[in-house]
Amino acid sequence: MKTATSGDKIKTITTHYIDGTFVESHGRDVMNVIRPTDGQVIAHVTLADEEDTRRAITAAKRAFASFGRSTKEERANILRRLHEAASARVDDLTAAMIEEYGGVGQFSSLIVKSGINAFLAAEQALDEIPWTRSWDKTTVTLEPVGVAGLITAWNANALFICLKLASAVAAGCTVVIKPSELSSLQTRVLVEALHEAGLPKGVLNVVTGLGTVVGAELVRNPDVAKISFTGSVGVGESIMRDGAATMKRMTLELGGKSPTILLDDAVLDQAIPSALTMAFLNSGQACAAGTRLLVPKNRLDAVKQAIRGAMRAFTVGDPADPKTAVGPMVSQRQFERVQSYIRKGIEEGAEVLVGGEGHPEGFEAGYFVKPTVFVNVKNDMTIAQEEIFGPVLSVIAYDSDDEAIRIANDSKYGLHAAVIGTDLSRARRVASQLRAGRVVINSMTDDPQAPWGGFKYSGVGREYGQYGIEAFLEPKAILES
Ligand code: NAD
Repeated sequence: MKTATSGDKIKTITTHYIDGTFVESHGRDVMNVIRPTDGQVIAHVTLADEEDTRRAITAAKRAFASFGRSTKEERANILRRLHEAASARVDDLTAAMIEEYGGVGQFSSLIVKSGINAFLAAEQALDEIPWTRSWDKTTVTLEPVGVAGLITAWNANALFICLKLASAVAAGCTVVIKPSELSSLQTRVLVEALHEAGLPKGVLNVVTGLGTVVGAELVRNPDVAKISFTGSVGVGESIMRDGAATMKRMTLELGGKSPTILLDDAVLDQAIPSALTMAFLNSGQACAAGTRLLVPKNRLDAVKQAIRGAMRAFTVGDPADPKTAVGPMVSQRQFERVQSYIRKGIEEGAEVLVGGEGHPEGFEAGYFVKPTVFVNVKNDMTIAQEEIFGPVLSVIAYDSDDEAIRIANDSKYGLHAAVIGTDLSRARRVASQLRAGRVVINSMTDDPQAPWGGFKYSGVGREYGQYGIEAFLEPKAILES
């Protein structure tokens, strides 16, 4: 680790956002923010402690007393204001993502735009939800669950904050956000932007600190009714266990090992670039990355050749350069994790088609890895079963559509999947048999009203659209005799 030189000004953040204002941290621990392209320290961030967290929860609880009774028109108005406020800082937010975690420009800008769009998508969903249903002498209303703790992962932190905040606000909940500590710079830009929306005091609170300190306080505090978490399976398990003591409502958005099934009628010129784009999304650091490519045995040689050719477009480089497809890993730890999986793949008998261990030539300073494609992978190998969270693709051969479906589903995860083929009815038939929260046909696509979330270890509950708002609601029935 080095300290920034050459005239770079080191940023300092010492405040949290509590009760509608930026307040000095009670916690005193300071964390370095390290730029992944060269390992230099670019900022110092003072981390929140339990006391900061409790102050934020108290503010959110106070605000819930009135915001929890707001009308849907008032909440729709707030969502429009949040959208407008965040839109004003699109470029700053994108730049912060590129610098802070090495997110490549195109992906960072897409993530920021999806985040900002989440406010309008929630406004639309809010309008379509049946808030009250009555029959005979029974009336059912949907009520906000209470104060919500929103805990985010670093890899698309700005999107997760916007998405969770939009759904919570649409439902009438007040929030305490615990962003990833690896996302302090982008969080700061976003919170400055959201402050301009002029929300009622205490509806939005943001405390940056460690998961084991701020996150743990949110999970154990009896005044927090709901946790919406995006992150790893290990932390998700502990949150679910610890939250049980106060009967927390839970949404857990966890990891993935997503399959892409290439059907034997796929046109390789389009299918392979599409499959590689899904595999190397966010430099492979994406929960939905399609990191297992299932290929018909009789087309394996042609697929290998197509991959070698298409990989030339997946250039490693400076994430700020628009031509770069794969940037650095977020941290030294993540770099080492990816290296260890590449070694494991080789030890277990998989064959490196492209890439391999070590830094790419000319990129020794930062946390860059070689985008790597393994062939001769068996689905029970470690690299096919565990989430690597880096640009490492496993190609697995199959004999029939049924075998492809069986291999795709033979995973502890079930977040995302893709089917690529020419005959749409066949692709749909295969898609319908996959155990995953979302399946895309032919290329990565999004719909902010469609549910997002996982089967099995990929999580509990759903985000996006009405599904996301319902996760912050409790049905209440009033019955007259
Ligand atoms: P992580 O689990 O290490 O951290 C996620 C968040 O949890 C961070 O804010 C962290 O500070 C906090 N945390 C850590 N310990 C905690 C504790 N004991 N109590 C409460 N909070 C705690 O995950 P990460 O490295 O930030 O993100 C990568 C993981 O997130 C990958 O597994 C990826 O697949 C997953 N992810 C899932 C989705 C999805 O939508 N399903 C999206 C993005 C990332």
